[in-house]
Amino acid sequence: MKLQTTVLAALAACFLSPAMAAAPLGAIAQPSAADIPKQCDAAIAVARSRIEKIKTLPLQKVNAKTVLHAWNVLDMGLQDMGGPVGLLAETSPDPEVRKAAEACDLKLSALPNEYLQSEALFQRVKALKVSDPIDVMARQSILDDFEERGVNLSADKRERAKAIFERLDKLSQDFARAVRDVDTKLAYPEAALQGIPPGALANRVKDAKGNYIFSLDYPEYEAIMSNVQVESTRKEYWTAFQRRGGQDNLALMQEAIKLRLELAQLMGQTNFADWTIKRRMAGSAQAVTRFLDEVQGKVEALERKELDELRVEKVAFTGDKDAQLKRWDVQFYQQRLKKSRYSVDQNVVRAQFPTDPTIAWMMKVTSTLYGVQFKENKSLPVWQSDVRAYDVFDSADGKYISSFYLDLFPRDGKYKHAAAFPVRGVSTLAGRTPASVLVTNFSREGFDQRELETLFHEFGHVMHGVLSKTRYTLNAGTGVKRDFVEAPSQMYEDWSRRPESLALFAQVCPTCKPIDPQLIERMNASRAFGKGIQYARQRLYAAFDMALHTPKVVDPMQAWIDLEAKTPLGYEATTMVPASFGHLMGGYQAGYYGYMWSEVLALDMRSAFAKNAMDTHVGTRYRKLILERGGERPPAELVEAFLQRKSSSEAFFKEISGL
Ligand SMILES: [Zn+2]
Repeated sequence: MKLQTTVLAALAACFLSPAMAAAPLGAIAQPSAADIPKQCDAAIAVARSRIEKIKTLPLQKVNAKTVLHAWNVLDMGLQDMGGPVGLLAETSPDPEVRKAAEACDLKLSALPNEYLQSEALFQRVKALKVSDPIDVMARQSILDDFEERGVNLSADKRERAKAIFERLDKLSQDFARAVRDVDTKLAYPEAALQGIPPGALANRVKDAKGNYIFSLDYPEYEAIMSNVQVESTRKEYWTAFQRRGGQDNLALMQEAIKLRLELAQLMGQTNFADWTIKRRMAGSAQAVTRFLDEVQGKVEALERKELDELRVEKVAFTGDKDAQLKRWDVQFYQQRLKKSRYSVDQNVVRAQFPTDPTIAWMMKVTSTLYGVQFKENKSLPVWQSDVRAYDVFDSADGKYISSFYLDLFPRDGKYKHAAAFPVRGVSTLAGRTPASVLVTNFSREGFDQRELETLFHEFGHVMHGVLSKTRYTLNAGTGVKRDFVEAPSQMYEDWSRRPESLALFAQVCPTCKPIDPQLIERMNASRAFGKGIQYARQRLYAAFDMALHTPKVVDPMQAWIDLEAKTPLGYEATTMVPASFGHLMGGYQAGYYGYMWSEVLALDMRSAFAKNAMDTHVGTRYRKLILERGGERPPAELVEAFLQRKSSSEAFFKEISGL
């Protein structure tokens, strides 16, 4: 899930240039590299004049319309520039567009430092008296943003805070670019690739010596790490992958951590984690640490047991009774174990889920569940030829709701992970319809089990964005508390494997190989293995994040080594995991715990579909009570309204204990 670092993300913006006003519904602006700077400056100028108008309001004229509605117009204007450039910076195939988009992104990110530090503007929002609960939430969220930017500080501290915010935005961008632009290539002779599926070699470019060339993109990572029998190949490839970002990114992260601590101290707090988490669901760093300890307690023994089982696999495969399990072995022996124990071969799964029918199936499942219809719209402009655009209509009245885009496959200079970009947030007040973009790096050879889950996960975010119907853009879709944002997406992963949803596959592709129910059963049974390894790793990432954001400045690499060394597989020399850990530089700092925190709610909400994943009655309630409401109500209240009871962590702890 992609979230921008600045307040602009939670807010949202839309500068209606004459050209865009004429654009079809759902279109995302595609300015050229030459046009971006001009449009960017114009958007900022318009925003400044809107800010000035609110700032100079006579206090007796302060009301919901003059402040909140005007604020919404400001947000929309900024988002209409910021949404597209944020997307293009990470996905445009043209390096010049990426560069211009990044420059604009930095300018837009700097703007809130101006107006959210303005006392006059702050006074106007504070003076606003509202009683409608949505207005109350919106007002409070804007006041929080003022506080976060340091409006209450003395003038010199305010200046320093501003400089820190600007520098943090730059560090975040430099870090992301380094990962996006990684062009490491490794070449292997066929003998070093024994076990790799033939599809991964077909059409692959070779070097002068006839060696196959591999990049570090996900599909290639999967093909090698899951299948190649030659340990030295896996070790070399895995190590290169773990070094993405390099020393330069470690230095950027170190600087960011120092600046975040300084920022928290400027704000009168002892550390960045406390300062940040007090505005989230968890409420305090202490609550997070307690939660992470509880997770560790539940998964520790299971992780060791699973790793032992993988070691036994390795001993059997290599014939070396003293063989030790290494990090580059984990995925390979998990695949072997799942093949032998559960008869699940990911290459068979891939053949069962070809790309186009699987996308059509996921859409069928989603549209049926939520009572909407998706139609491909070939007239919407796209930034790359294989990006597809769709419109969303309400099945009940046929009305247009929103649009979304799918950018599925890897290419050079593209964002390397999987994410949903909330390019445009809804505002019912303004009659504004939303648009989101799914950006992934899937294989073109169909989906394996993990990719299926990722597809549904990211599409869960997309639906949160495009089905949301909030009054204000700042509350739209994924504009929820950071430690709730993953709940709808994690919940939706389950629809990739439920018999009720899979039953619809034949409807979208009557000519496809029918879904083998036994394969699905075996896939689901195979999920029982690996939970300890998976959640122990998630706990480690979250604990690392918390360690970086506590009272003392630490060296991120050393902190990582210290923590990873205490895990059963230890730390592998020369690897530098933090150097590509983009979450901690791009919005999830002191927030990585949010994945598991959200999962508690995700699995609890999923229990409402326990009997039938395709229960459209429950689906419609979920759409209305969770997706449509975005951040208009506190997450705990949303979940309680949907479940008609207080939320419980029982389902989550059952899941991670492998029960
Ligand atoms: Zn996500």
